[in-house]
Formats: sequence, C-alpha cells, structure tokens
Amino acid sequence: MYRPEIETASRDFMQHLQLELFRNQLKHVYNNSMMYRRKYDAVGLKPEDIKTFDDIKKVPFTTKDDLRISQEENPPFGDVLCVPREEGVRVFQTSGTTGKPVKVLFTFRDWFSVGCEHVAYQANVFEINKSDIAFLPFGYGLFIAWWGWHAGLERMGVTVVPGGAQSSQDRIRNIIAWEATVVLGTPTYILHLGDVARDMGVNLNSDSRVRLVVLAGEPGAQIPSTRAIVEETWGAKCYDAIGASEMPVSFGFECLHKKGTHLIESMFLPEVVEPDGEGYVEPGEQGELVMTNLCMETMPLIRYRLRDLVSLTYEKCECGRTFARMNGGVLGRVDDMINYAGVNIYPSAIENVVRSVKAFSSEFQIVVPKQGSSEKLTIKVEPASENVSPHGLGKAIQDIKETVKLNIGITPEIEISKIGSLPRYELKARRTIRKE
Ligand SMILES: [Zn+2]
Repeated sequence: MYRPEIETASRDFMQHLQLELFRNQLKHVYNNSMMYRRKYDAVGLKPEDIKTFDDIKKVPFTTKDDLRISQEENPPFGDVLCVPREEGVRVFQTSGTTGKPVKVLFTFRDWFSVGCEHVAYQANVFEINKSDIAFLPFGYGLFIAWWGWHAGLERMGVTVVPGGAQSSQDRIRNIIAWEATVVLGTPTYILHLGDVARDMGVNLNSDSRVRLVVLAGEPGAQIPSTRAIVEETWGAKCYDAIGASEMPVSFGFECLHKKGTHLIESMFLPEVVEPDGEGYVEPGEQGELVMTNLCMETMPLIRYRLRDLVSLTYEKCECGRTFARMNGGVLGRVDDMINYAGVNIYPSAIENVVRSVKAFSSEFQIVVPKQGSSEKLTIKVEPASENVSPHGLGKAIQDIKETVKLNIGITPEIEISKIGSLPRYELKARRTIRKE
C-alpha cells in the first residue's frame, strides 16, 4: 500500500478526517468563490454550521448546470474559481457528451502535488515502478483522459511514452518498439487496439511486453466478459480505475483482489443518493454517486452529482483496505438507463451478454424504440470473423436472446451487421441509439 495507515484506518478515524477536510474546504469555497457563496447564502448556510459528519447532508448539492451557468455568465472559467486565474497552470474541459463542455483549471499544487498523489495510490497497487514503461494511447487534447496519469507516472520515475497523434496501427507498432509494459485506455479503445493488432497479424500476448492494462472512462474492466477478452488478447492483467474531468484526476482503483473499486477516501468524500432524488440509499443499494473533492484548491466541487450509478460497501476488503468500495465499479450512467417494456436496463448488462458470446465481435449497438411503439429493442452485433458459419451465427443469436431474457427479462431483436461496420471509439463509446 502507498499509505497503509490511511488505507486501513478505522471508520471513525476516516470520518473524523473527512469531516475536518470537508469543513476546511467549505470555508475555502465560501470565502473565495462567488458561485458557492451565492448558493449557500440562498439557503442561509454558513460553513460553521457544519459541526458533525451528519451535518454534511445540509450542504446543497453541486451540479454540472451550476458550473455551466457560472461559466456562461463569467467566461471563461466562471465564478466557481476559488483562486485568481493567474494561479492556474493547466486547463481541460469535459468531453461535452451531455451538453456544453465545462472548463477546468488547476494550480501548480493541484496538478503536480494533489493529482499526482491520486496516481501514486493506484500505481502502487499495480506495482508500477521505475522499471516500467507506460504507453498512453489517447488524443492528448483538452479532455483530461490520461493526462493526470501521465504527470503522476513521470513524477514516480516511470518512463512514459506519449501515444497521441498516431493511428491505431502505429500505436501497436510503438507499444512493441518502445517495449511498453503498461498500457492505459478506455475499455472500448483497448478492445479496438486488440482487434487492430490481430488484423495486422500481431499477437500482443507474445509479441509485446505488456504486463498490465489499466482501464477507465467507462464500465468495462469489471464486466467479467470484457475483462476476460482484454486479458486474453493482451496476455496481461487488467484492472479498473476511475476519474472525471470535474472530479480530477483519479479518485478510485481496483485492488488485486478485484472486489470493486476502492475510493481514495482520504482525499474524496463519497456519498450515494437516490438518482434525481435527495435521500441517501443504504450501503449495497444502487444510487447516484455524489463526491466532494477534499484536497484540491482551484475549483473543488462540493457534494457534486456525478450522474454515475454505483453501489457502495464499507466492509473491509480482503486486501486489508478499509477504503469504501464501489461493487462492480461504475454500473452505468443515470442518463444512460434504458426504460423498455417497464424494465430498467443498463447498457453494461447487455455488454456483458454480447461479449460472452464468442461468435460475435466485442462491438455492439442498442437501438431503443420510441416509447409506446410496437417495435422491439434491437441489439446490433457483428460476426467475430469471416470464419463463423451461418449455423454458428444462428446458434449465437439464439444464445444472446435467451441470456438477455434470463438475465434482463426482455426478448430483444438481434440484427447482424457487416464485420467492422459498427462505429469504433477512441474515448467514451456511445452505443445506445434512441429512436425519436
Ligand atoms: Zn481491496
């Protein structure tokens, strides 16, 4: 462990630490950010009102809309900033998949000290050290993606090969040529790289030195069938990590026991509430993840609604850590939930079924019919290769239908697409299409 005394601390100790950090952070945002001051004044809340751990729930949630409005009215960074803009050394913006992107700023301290500390917690778990060479295949643009890991790994003395501005084929060639041992990416893109390597006649298992693949950005690493494909294709161990542009840089990681995503509770305060509601859900139940960034200074978000669906447990893990865990990682996005025929369906559940059928490639698309129409929900899939026989394909279609019926409770239509015709993604995939 990176900080054993913190990672195995008692719940009492952890709550005491979190309360202290929360109170300090609340004072900081109230005194330095007009957005927070307005928000809290509107409900008559003063930082000193928060005296106990239980009082934290009196503090209003922060939402992405708060940030958008703040930045629209006071461009470019908004009055959410708690430090003068001049103190910033690095910017990013959110991916903008759900509306106008939100801009994010970091001071030197937040970027090189706090953010790198997040990475150190995780890199230690995976035993990443100076002997490793990390390859980061992503766009190196305004989206934070693996930038934080880039900085954190360098800071630890790990050799980093920037994998930006290259075709997927070039990335495969570079992973081999630079003798990379660690590769980081979204599940979607790592699977795609595996397909590209196969088409190039490259066997990543024997031709590369990759020993570890770290995934983040989408549910995936903890979907058993997806993890199995990645580990088999790459001949490497595969683990999950998590971060978000607004909740930077990386707030959780899977341990070697693969029993969910540990949250770095000494630096973040996680809570789970009813999706779109206010009340807490019980540990072990599904709800929306609400996080407070306890340590950053530039624009720390307080009780921020991340829109991720999770189920949290506080039971001590087999690894000895007492850091809370998200069972199965991020289960889906609150906004991605499909309501069809009276059943709530998460795309990740369909992903697990599709990827457990060998006759199909790992790509798929879910087409959701208009509400009230008589059409069926359709799952589009591709054959894994030209070698799959019509008989094999027919049997695989039957398999998917039956497993979806059994596990999810609906009978979908299965549509076969041409090999390679479904869209591939470098960052976050958008596999659900809703008919208007
Ligand atoms: Zn653990």
